[in-house]
Amino acid sequence: MRLHEYQSKSIFSHYGIPIPKGRIANTAGEVKQIAEELGGRVVIKAQVLVGGRGKAGGIRLAKSVEEAEEIATHILSMNLKGLPVRRVLVDEIVNFSKEIYLGITNDRMERKPVIIASGAGGVDIEEVAREYPEKIMKVYLDAPFGLHDYQTRNLAIGIDLPRELWKSFNQIAKGLWKAFKENDAAIAEINPLVVTNQGFLMALDGKMIVDDNALFRHPELVETRDLDAEEPVEVEARKYGLSYIKLQGNIGCMVNGAGLAMATLDLIKEKGGSASNFLDIGGGANSDKVSTAIRIISADPSVKVILINIFGGITRCDEVARGILASINNQNKKIPLVVRLAGTNAEKGLDLLTGSHVRTATSLDEAAMKVVEIARRKNK
Ligand code: GDP
Ligand code: MN
Repeated sequence: MRLHEYQSKSIFSHYGIPIPKGRIANTAGEVKQIAEELGGRVVIKAQVLVGGRGKAGGIRLAKSVEEAEEIATHILSMNLKGLPVRRVLVDEIVNFSKEIYLGITNDRMERKPVIIASGAGGVDIEEVAREYPEKIMKVYLDAPFGLHDYQTRNLAIGIDLPRELWKSFNQIAKGLWKAFKENDAAIAEINPLVVTNQGFLMALDGKMIVDDNALFRHPELVETRDLDAEEPVEVEARKYGLSYIKLQGNIGCMVNGAGLAMATLDLIKEKGGSASNFLDIGGGANSDKVSTAIRIISADPSVKVILINIFGGITRCDEVARGILASINNQNKKIPLVVRLAGTNAEKGLDLLTGSHVRTATSLDEAAMKVVEIARRKNK
């Protein structure tokens, strides 16, 4: 679950990280009022769950209350990378001399949390990481021991931070680590952490992603979940208990079981194709869930063909077949389906499918070959 900037910054502030004064607004009228309270000079920031808002025009400075209202009207009518802007954060303007990047995530290869810092923070951090990797400092943590003073000092030296800011940097890094750990975050990031003209450190932007699998421990966060701001297909998939993750390819996949889904993606890759999604319908799915899954996969315009790979255990293949047939009847665009059914009631399922335009396969290997072939033909 991705948190908005204002939510992340509010959490950071609970952990002692300085943030600008500001409030969230739904209308240009509210923005005007907040701008008045803050003295007129404010920054207005679109609250949408995408990166690079600054470059996309979603962050603008206003020099007066009138200008703030004008800019707010404009930003609140924008679409940023496909997502409508429904709310803006209005913050006091902070003038700064340096932008720092500071983030924590889990490094899966090292099996450890890693804290990353750079003296070249700001909107071009991705480019910096690509072109000048030596400007990115990394320190690995041992989770039970947390972050040590010497580690934050090494980071501070690495990013050329003036000595008088080391103490404050140490407190901010430790606060970020605590926020990361206690909220079961996958990412906690400040970009930029600025050195203000008054000479202290402040978090101007905040980003947090909380591990969905830990959300049961954070009912207070779930309550603030902003479904309007998330990828609509992922929201719908979640509602039906389907694990759906969008990928870059053109072969849709519907599979039962996460392991089988991974194996299916690997096999598609091996045959020279690429999957458009990961989708696990889970165990014991009924026909409704199956047809919903197919509808969600088909909604992606890049999908040329769908591979359905079911190994029936608790899941019954005849129930899956019924779901497939229902989805064919409701589909307006005809996307070819290749179905491999094995296990519980597979024969019954395949019987149900004869006579429909569904292609079947007896092995996963054959099914993968077929979908890759169809995807290739349709791409021409
Ligand atoms: P992002 O583009 O989505 O990462 O949004 P940010 O909140 O990081 O804002 C982008 C850039 O706008 C920052 O890197 C800053 O350079 C600038 N910015 C954001 N807030 C302020 C502010 O209060 N004052 C000034 N002068 N610049 C700001
Ligand atoms: Mn940023």
